[in-house]
Amino acid sequence: MGGVMRYCKKCVQPDTRPGLVFDDESVCMACRFAEERKSTDWVKRREQLRKIVDWARKNAYGGFDCVVGVSGGKDSHFQSLYARDQLGLKALLVNCAPDFITEVGRQNLENLVQHGFDMISFRPNPKVMRAVTRRAFFEHGNLIKPSEYPLYAVSYQTALKFNIPLIIQGENPAVTLGTVGFLDTSDDAWGIRSNNTLDGGNASDWVQKGIGLKDLLFYQFPKHSGTRAIYLGHFAEEWSYYGNTVFAIAKGLKGRPRHDPYLMGRLSPYSVVDSDFQIVNQMLKYYKFGFGFVTDEVCYNIREGRLPRKEALQLVEAYDGRCDERYIHEFCEYIGITTEMFWQAVDVLVNKKLFQKNSLTKEWEPTFR
Ligand SMILES: [Zn+2]
Repeated sequence: MGGVMRYCKKCVQPDTRPGLVFDDESVCMACRFAEERKSTDWVKRREQLRKIVDWARKNAYGGFDCVVGVSGGKDSHFQSLYARDQLGLKALLVNCAPDFITEVGRQNLENLVQHGFDMISFRPNPKVMRAVTRRAFFEHGNLIKPSEYPLYAVSYQTALKFNIPLIIQGENPAVTLGTVGFLDTSDDAWGIRSNNTLDGGNASDWVQKGIGLKDLLFYQFPKHSGTRAIYLGHFAEEWSYYGNTVFAIAKGLKGRPRHDPYLMGRLSPYSVVDSDFQIVNQMLKYYKFGFGFVTDEVCYNIREGRLPRKEALQLVEAYDGRCDERYIHEFCEYIGITTEMFWQAVDVLVNKKLFQKNSLTKEWEPTFR
């Protein structure tokens, strides 16, 4: 089995991930970049970062040295506290609240601010978000896509409006996922706009009947300006999936209550806790590409040397793509469709090379292992 998908020899990334590149030895670029991190001259990187920090302080005409885009999760905690305590930067946190934020997500964001930060929180119009999310579900089989536009764009907009010279992002997905087909691996976080989901898009992508550009102002990335945007993961040796989690827990981050990998399709109770729709989205990803969030999680753990590949495969087999019906109901209610309509849409988007429908249970079952 498994003839249709090729897996990285070191981790368990399949070649169905859009933009992922493998080398001649069937090893994915994420694994190669993880190896490179071990031989990186971190003292030199730290000096480069120090220069950027000095430049930002000198050019902070609005008072704030940098913007940190935050959701309140583990990476947000690491970035904000690193910017302030390690780099001595006066940071303005910028948040874009998702529709149906979870209670624990709300608490985590509050916990972060309570460490002593100024924050601006944006809330895109829920009626507009609902309409474009519905469309994204049917057109792209992706229900997070439209929310990612304002999620990133408002940090860049805020930096320009408040005359803030530096934007600090977390990690470059080209490096941590190996998707060099979309992005370069540099430290320049203006590139985030070309990631898989945004694909260089504009607010105009979501103009439709009843929704004009003026309803989508938070969705528009501003033009590249003198503001610098960097990935902290490029410069900070401490940056890691596991390390950031441990750091954030010590600073008060809470995990999902009643965490169950079988219902949530994820192993860690501490990743992406602010939205339940992400759980549904990962299930859709699983049906489209044959892998979900558990694959991503175990890959980080394999590369960071904490999980043998064999155990990782068992975890993927057991939990990847799982999503409790409760979350699907919630989502259907949100965009105003029935669950029958939801599953009909899945029937269309599911990858028929990877799944076949069980004629008795009417469920899509993987043809791969
Ligand atoms: Zn790999």
